[in-house]
Amino acid sequence: MARLIDSGPGCPTPTPLRAANVAEARGLAYDDEVKAKTDHLYPLVNDFITPMEWPAVAPLVAAINDLKAEKNAVILAHNYMTPDIFRLVGDFRGDSLQLAREAAEVDADIIVQAGVHFMAETSKILAPSKTVLISSLEAGCSLASSITGADVRLIKERYPDYPVVTYVNTTADVKAECHITCTSSNAAQVVEAIAKEWDTDTVVLVPDQYLAKNVAAQTNIRIITWPGACEVHELFSADDVDALREAHPGVVILAHPECPPDVLEAADFAGSTAALANYVKDESPAKVVLLTECSMSDNVATENPGVDFVRPCNLCPHMKQITLENILDCLTEMKHEVIIEEEVRVRAKAAIDAMLALPKMANPLAFETGLKPMEIEVFSPN
Ligand code: SF4
Repeated sequence: MARLIDSGPGCPTPTPLRAANVAEARGLAYDDEVKAKTDHLYPLVNDFITPMEWPAVAPLVAAINDLKAEKNAVILAHNYMTPDIFRLVGDFRGDSLQLAREAAEVDADIIVQAGVHFMAETSKILAPSKTVLISSLEAGCSLASSITGADVRLIKERYPDYPVVTYVNTTADVKAECHITCTSSNAAQVVEAIAKEWDTDTVVLVPDQYLAKNVAAQTNIRIITWPGACEVHELFSADDVDALREAHPGVVILAHPECPPDVLEAADFAGSTAALANYVKDESPAKVVLLTECSMSDNVATENPGVDFVRPCNLCPHMKQITLENILDCLTEMKHEVIIEEEVRVRAKAAIDAMLALPKMANPLAFETGLKPMEIEVFSPN
């Protein structure tokens, strides 16, 4: 069950004492120059960083933004970044699909991925001539680490007649073995398109068993999946939804499709992080809860001041490895460059290109809620 907490900023952002030490160690001070560069930014985060904390954070923000200009670098910030990163140094913000499209088109020499490792790999796959950095090597993902390229080869040996779709939350090695990628914004569209292209009623969708089950409930395509799960979203349960409804009468409950199917059955709306953000913006519910990673609510709340957020706080320990201080270090020292073997990159790109070649949707697809959970085949190597 998720840890349920009441309205208010979901998770502490950032650690001012550490920020102060980091700034001081680099000879950075909250002087008039820094003030001039950052005063206009403080209102973007004043729900999360107190006026007393700001002088510890602002020098890091100013130093990062100066380095970006000096080195022609951009920061791609995922929706799960803490607000200091998302709002103050992120140049492009969004979900995996949005950031992948930005990586392909952005006019910059350096991309710093404020997200996890598979996202940085996706940027490098799409922008091979750019230097792609990730500020922490600890920023992994339970989904990406659940499956290898060798596992996909085994699946293809067992099911040579079925196309294999991989969720983007996988390594370049895995993408290179798959026929097409998908995101939570377009998974059902991709599954139906590849089934049509292969003239089959069965598709393999890896590695997230819950996303696969949720997609299976939306389509007539038979889906075989892999026993992977997001360690953040799998913690949510239908009991959480019941508890939230009881504690907060009238609350509108939005769920990410990496949650187990009984959560989507009980929720009011479901979709990718982009779909959830759009829902809040378009519908302006009086009170809402996002069943997804903790920082997402903080970032969406900033853009929707009239909406009251209830925040069940499940932090992604991998996303939280990314901090202002290690972004500053990686840009200063140009460290943790993402390198992908060219042969792997080219094959992985083909899988991403197959997805990007599908008609661009006006909006991310929503998942129908209220559907009974479906049992589907989960691949077993034995
Ligand atoms: S939230 Fe889940 S899917 Fe996203 S990076 Fe963390 S573990 Fe991976």
